[in-house]
Amino acid sequence: MKNYKPKNRLSAKTYIEGILKGDRVLLSRAITIIESNLESDKLLAKEIIQAILPKSGNSIRIGITGVPGVGKSTFIEAFGKHLITKKHKVAILSIDPSSQRSKGSILGDKTRMEELANAEEAYIRPSASGDTLGGVANKTGETMLLCEAAGYDVILIETVGVGQSETAVHGMTDFFLLLMLSGAGDELQGIKKGIMEMADMVVINKADGDNVRKSEQAKIQYQNALHIFPQSESGWSPVVSTASAIKNIGIDNVWKEITKFKNLVKENGYFDKNRNHQQIQWMYNNINEELKRLFYGSKNISTQLTSLEKDIITAKISPVKAAQHIIEEFKKSFNKK
Ligand code: GDP
Repeated sequence: MKNYKPKNRLSAKTYIEGILKGDRVLLSRAITIIESNLESDKLLAKEIIQAILPKSGNSIRIGITGVPGVGKSTFIEAFGKHLITKKHKVAILSIDPSSQRSKGSILGDKTRMEELANAEEAYIRPSASGDTLGGVANKTGETMLLCEAAGYDVILIETVGVGQSETAVHGMTDFFLLLMLSGAGDELQGIKKGIMEMADMVVINKADGDNVRKSEQAKIQYQNALHIFPQSESGWSPVVSTASAIKNIGIDNVWKEITKFKNLVKENGYFDKNRNHQQIQWMYNNINEELKRLFYGSKNISTQLTSLEKDIITAKISPVKAAQHIIEEFKKSFNKK
């Protein structure tokens, strides 16, 4: 199965030229290759990425998170349309670890952003699926590079604010936006302190109708809460604002703040410093993922693990000893080669 080569694959050159011309069909097909686990596709993907790499990076990468129901898709639809009026090209990607379990993604569904999905200047790609969050994040990172090479200069990476995926998104973006609601404590919204701490901007959404006053109060509370955190290395102080995605209020202000942030960090050198750091981190993520794949993908190892599991339960071996034993076995398999 692994050596199976799909018939409809084109040459690397065709994909590369297509992407650089901004051809959306070829871009989509190249992303499918990146997401594929076939060995032949992995080689093709590497060739494509290597070639487009010099043309990538010219964008602002924005991470967006918030619990389900906060209004992420409504916000992205309004925000994306606003950016298009400003002559930007927007790519919307998502990291959704739930898709690997339920096989149904709660993010990145095109029907959630209908108008944007039909716009020529926007490109929406649902979350890649995968066995691990790290694997999904790596694929999304490569997809982002392809989108940049295809001319998208604003990249939005969306994730659900309930787990570890926001750390992954934070690790690959320049600006991190947290959507919140008024009238519910952080605990109620499932937002952990660590996520608040990563935010460059908190937007209290649904500030419309009866909610306006409560949203203004929440804004003050969040401003106070953010003050407790130590000053970020970027030199930027996180801002809090209110918005109504549905009524298109406060959306332009979000872009204004992001532009201010970009100007500041480009000027003080943090923009490049952070991206360099992220590149290095990305290499380590890839190493980690590949090591895990080699280890758990080995038939010998998986057979032995099954029997070790039994030995642990019957107290024949301690978990620590079992781990040491299996690592030794893994090392042996390399020495043989
Ligand atoms: P997501 O799960 O975070 O993507 O949230 P959605 O964008 O799907 O929105 C969840 C619900 O909140 C939908 O019924 C939206 O119509 C509603 N909603 C989103 N933004 C606003 C807003 O600014 N004001 C109000 N009143 N409702 C909103």
